[in-house]
Amino acid sequence: MQSVKRLRRMRMTGVFRSMVRETELSVNDFIYPLFVVPGKKVRREVKSMPGVFQLSIDEIVRECVDVGNLGIPGVILFGIPAAKDDLASEAYDEAGIVQMAIRAIKAEVPELAVITDVCLCEYTSHGHCGIVRDGLIVNDESVELIARQALTHAQAGGDMIAPSDMFDGRVKAIREILDENGYQNTPIMSYAAKYASGFYGPFRDAAESTPKFGDRRSHQMDPANSDEALREVGQDIAEGADIVMVKPALAYLDVIRRVKDRFGMPTAAYNVSGEYSMIKAASKNGWIEEQRVMLEVLTAIKRAGADIILTYFAKDAAKVLKP
Ligand SMILES: [Zn+2]
Repeated sequence: MQSVKRLRRMRMTGVFRSMVRETELSVNDFIYPLFVVPGKKVRREVKSMPGVFQLSIDEIVRECVDVGNLGIPGVILFGIPAAKDDLASEAYDEAGIVQMAIRAIKAEVPELAVITDVCLCEYTSHGHCGIVRDGLIVNDESVELIARQALTHAQAGGDMIAPSDMFDGRVKAIREILDENGYQNTPIMSYAAKYASGFYGPFRDAAESTPKFGDRRSHQMDPANSDEALREVGQDIAEGADIVMVKPALAYLDVIRRVKDRFGMPTAAYNVSGEYSMIKAASKNGWIEEQRVMLEVLTAIKRAGADIILTYFAKDAAKVLKP
């Protein structure tokens, strides 16, 4: 056994294992997604996402106090408007649901970073991410509205803009409109490599944003591609993205690693609804140990290269990790 390296030596005790541990999860890594709905005292559990709720503004403020107390640095907001139309009017209305929620949260928990998802799909009557003409989702017109939406979020006090649409040129348009209006210091976290994924299923229950016809394959990426992800990410960086995101996370760990290695940018990964719900469902059935698998998955996403993890597990994980 002389020539054999005894790699097990450093695994023999908990102290040794922690001494050589390469990846350490921290509550600072997390962003917690929240869904805001009209009304008062609304706290409606999303059926396909146990532990995740649609919240009215009063309830979301209470939730944000809890999130802040757990040490989670930020939330990302998704809005479900009272009314939807073809032009997604409420998306860029200064009195829209997200704009009001931002003001309410910042008034109560100013130190919590409020990041806002920017896209039209929750606001259009047809559920698509942009304006539809002759059955096609048009790019440039949609980008204009998305930029307007971003500006209203910044004006309401949002700390960071996160465009999730995957249309071409949106980061540039958002950067320009923010700069022209005095928001030079508002960063953009772009959903840079976002795949057309089956793992978004439960999210669409939560955000009520299922397309009424067709799908999102004309703008979101083909799951089979990763060279293309580098082109998408490179383009968003060139247009001014401060943080680049890969979404989903778990089936795309290789993409996260390639993006991190290639660009060395602050890199985020979205541990999406389907990834969350699979773990919740399997553990409800007694098939896996929820807490262990949750931590293993989050650690894997960080090990793959993510600096920031958007996750519905943020509160659960924060409770485990808190010293
Ligand atoms: Zn969308």
